Amino acid sequence: MAIIKVEDDKLEFWCTGCGAYHSVPLVGDDPWFFDGDYERPTILPSLVLHRVTETGKVVNTCHLCLTGGILYYLSDSEHRMRGQNIPLESRY
Ligand SMILES: [Zn+2]
Repeated sequence: MAIIKVEDDKLEFWCTGCGAYHSVPLVGDDPWFFDGDYERPTILPSLVLHRVTETGKVVNTCHLCLTGGILYYLSDSEHRMRGQNIPLESRY
């Protein structure tokens, strides 16, 4: 079992906080850095997902750093994992 999938020039992982897969591009105009470690991956910069409320307010649904295979959810994340360090789950 692997904890990330690298395919078609993007890196994908399971986000425990969202209960969904997130992916980031590794090539193109604005790629993420990936350190090449498939066991304890690090990507830079942090990843932010937004939603816009009915009143037009932008809310960060998920804001995370992935360092050494650990997801750190920043405090502005909307979900219950905010402020926590969660190891990546094997999902592949
Ligand atoms: Zn997420």
